Amino acid sequence: MTENGKRDYFCGMNPSSDTLGTDLDKAVAILRAGGLVAIPTETVYGLAANALDEDAVLSIFQVKNRPTFDPLIVHLAQSTQLDLYAEVPSETAFRLAEHFWPGPLTLVLKRKSMIPDVVSAGLDTVAVRVPNHPRTLDLLSRIDFPLAAPSANPFGYVSPTCSSHVQRQLGEKIDYILEGGESIIGLESTVLDLSGQSPVILRRGGIPEEELEEFLGKHIQKTLSSSRPGAPGMLHSHYAPRCSLHTYTGDAWRNLVLGLTPSQFSEAYWIRFSHELADVEKDRQLVLSRTADLSEAARNLFSAIRTLDDKGAVAIYAEKVPDTGLGRAINDRLTRATSKK
Ligand code: AMP
Ligand code: MG
Repeated sequence: MTENGKRDYFCGMNPSSDTLGTDLDKAVAILRAGGLVAIPTETVYGLAANALDEDAVLSIFQVKNRPTFDPLIVHLAQSTQLDLYAEVPSETAFRLAEHFWPGPLTLVLKRKSMIPDVVSAGLDTVAVRVPNHPRTLDLLSRIDFPLAAPSANPFGYVSPTCSSHVQRQLGEKIDYILEGGESIIGLESTVLDLSGQSPVILRRGGIPEEELEEFLGKHIQKTLSSSRPGAPGMLHSHYAPRCSLHTYTGDAWRNLVLGLTPSQFSEAYWIRFSHELADVEKDRQLVLSRTADLSEAARNLFSAIRTLDDKGAVAIYAEKVPDTGLGRAINDRLTRATSKK
């Protein structure tokens, strides 16, 4: 997937149409009128509405078929807006915002009352971040309200990393898709809860926990359990394709193969970290990064799963990547994409 030709195959640019393009005036008008616009971000594409308009936010849940107990992230134009919508208990939150924004870090803080209940699923907290994408930052600078935006995919499915992913699944149901090319991180943001006594990571994502720990100078607790209702992105089965997905580590693919019938083996697709398996046909394998680069692997992960799912794969066998830095977030998504079909 490092070759340019192949990248186009996964995430080609969409031709402009009435409902897809780079028209910021149109996007602003739709959002002001309470409509829905898919926005590009560095993590994944978001499905955005005026965060202060309860009806507009409710329509996000309807379009995604997302349960209303799953709170949304509020996107701000700049870090100085942090205390407009949230209570900021300490300098730490401001320091994190200044250092990591715009970027893939979401901060959970006590909510101010102007954020409607529906955004926060009734919790007394709100999740906020400044996304790092020039077109979306331009959009945010033109409106005087923040944007509530979850990932722009049907609830539970793999997140979209380019406009064609959004168009295929939600194109009929939303007012406009703002074209912004391929998401350069390709994984959702890291969610850091600062609303309690000490910081807690609720979801692994685009900023590795090692970087946060180094910045804060201390170990950060993790609550990554699927039972925590405040972080449904951590549901056991999430980010899942229609086909079945199985993960393995290192040489364990050999044992997997032993358990397959010849016809299952001949129909299986493989997602590999850095090189193909010699014993499997090349065109049944996708390599995430030929240079074993975790950032590149993260960027390609969701597209790879979608590509194979769209091809009608029955089963995908995905190799886990080294469990360090961004690799932990990649492995987290792979594990949650493992459905029990
Ligand atoms: P998505 O935008 O689809 O990636 O989902 C947003 C993620 O942020 C979900 O995992 C939510 O559970 C999490 N989130 C949003 N708001 C809050 C909040 N107030 N407290 C805890 N987690 C939150
Ligand atoms: Mg999501």
